Amino acid sequence: MRLNVNKLLHTPGAGQDFHFQLDLRELEFGGMHPISRPVAVDGRVENRAGVLTCSLQASTVLASVCDRCLDAFDEEKTVSYSCVLAEERQSEDNEDIVLLEHDEVDLSELARSAFILGMDTKTLCSPDCKGLCGGCGVNLNREACRCKKQIDPRLAALAKLLDKDGAAD
Ligand SMILES: [Zn+2]
Ligand SMILES: [Zn+2]
Repeated sequence: MRLNVNKLLHTPGAGQDFHFQLDLRELEFGGMHPISRPVAVDGRVENRAGVLTCSLQASTVLASVCDRCLDAFDEEKTVSYSCVLAEERQSEDNEDIVLLEHDEVDLSELARSAFILGMDTKTLCSPDCKGLCGGCGVNLNREACRCKKQIDPRLAALAKLLDKDGAAD
């Protein structure tokens, strides 16, 4: 979505709300496409004492997969972003400045970059996810490890032998 801010540029105090949906399904993160649902973008462009500011929030529910237990789960995700819109860059400004093109700002592009930057590099179903057992492969969030209980009798005999060897040392 592109917004023409020509009128706002020259009217201190003026503002305009915007709302649109963004399709980011094509974005790939770690070989997955977690942004499977539309991203809702809400925001406002405002002329504050001659400075044009843009602030937005983009949110969706991600189709995530836990890095640790490999469970699929829905994850609410909201990112916030704000910047100053200007016709030309002023070198001494530290603020995040987005340049206008023919008095237009590409809000979709802003929301898209904000969302990409806001994606977590690590995805966990919960901060204390116990993951999968490296031995029996159970999801330790739901089941107890079966490694000890389900040892094959032949392996148990072998384990005993190995234990004896160990004791001889
Ligand atoms: Zn997990
Ligand atoms: Zn186990």
